[in-house]
Amino acid sequence: MRAEPWIDLRSDTVTQPTIEMRRAMARADVGDDVYGEDPTVNSLESTLAEMVGMEAGLFLPTGTQSNLVALLTHCGRGDEYIVGQQAHTYKYEGGGAAVLGGIQPQPLDFSEFGGLNLQQVEAAIKPLNDHFARTRLLCLENTMQGKVLPVQYLIEANRLASNRELKLHLDGARVFNAAVALSVDVAAITTQFTTVSVCLSKGLGAPAGSVLLGSSDFIKEARRWRKVTGGGMRQAGILAAAGLYALEHNIQRLAEDHLHARLLQEGLCDLGYQAAPAQTNMVFVDIGDFDIELFSRSIQGQGIRINPARRLRLVTHLDISEADIKKTIKAFAACRSL
Ligand SMILES: *Cc1c(COP(=O)(O)O)cnc(C)c1O
Repeated sequence: MRAEPWIDLRSDTVTQPTIEMRRAMARADVGDDVYGEDPTVNSLESTLAEMVGMEAGLFLPTGTQSNLVALLTHCGRGDEYIVGQQAHTYKYEGGGAAVLGGIQPQPLDFSEFGGLNLQQVEAAIKPLNDHFARTRLLCLENTMQGKVLPVQYLIEANRLASNRELKLHLDGARVFNAAVALSVDVAAITTQFTTVSVCLSKGLGAPAGSVLLGSSDFIKEARRWRKVTGGGMRQAGILAAAGLYALEHNIQRLAEDHLHARLLQEGLCDLGYQAAPAQTNMVFVDIGDFDIELFSRSIQGQGIRINPARRLRLVTHLDISEADIKKTIKAFAACRSL
């Protein structure tokens, strides 16, 4: 055991539930959620639905399953969704939509700002013709690798989707980071979409859980797919209580994580590292010609956990303080002389 806790910058998924969050979990009223009888799950679903301006919500164990259930509900076998090459719903979910739904992805390169070029999206929509998969859905991600999509872009994507009769899904794993960064109500973002998936286990600090949001009819169908994919939990209110606690206490404080990311980025740039300006809670930093293993071991030896890479992703979160940021900058300073 280390005497001091790690400064863990690998992801915002590593947060530990606080004592207060654990107390809320212990106090939760629960029931069997497959019967729709868990009052805490029901409360989480309706609370978040109201926040994002949608009719209904569905609590799921993970964001991957939430996106998968969205895809299975929007698309049938031989249908297609348009998605970014580096999108979680394409690259990081094990090909689930294809494996389980016979749904074909049409990946496109992301633009520099984190969205898909809408002319390219339009060009990728297949004509109605027996040769082609049927293009049903456009998927966006916000934030995308820490980048915030402008609301005006979302309005244009919405217009394109409705003109071309596509559904529009948001992988909003970190949509509250986007809302806080723009100082807008989250509904200004989410109401541009047909459906939205929100993670409670990222910056919001809950131990597990995501919520899929959409119309009542959509969520009724999604509930079936949740059961089919094995995501129907029973006394899930224990987990939902953590989510409700997070919605109440951990949204506005995301601004601190964004500030810490900015301080870290500025500190690293002052040391001569190439680090892109942080819009939310992620800093991407290039370690240049350093040996990746050597560099990572040196950082780790100074009590800081990172995922080794030439372009490092450093993520700030609930368990990272300003003092931790200062220590991290010192550790990177020490590495300059490796
Ligand atoms: C984390 C994440 C998800 C969901 O991941 P789970 O680990 O399955 O909860 C989905 N999309 C994005 C962009 C994510 O970062």
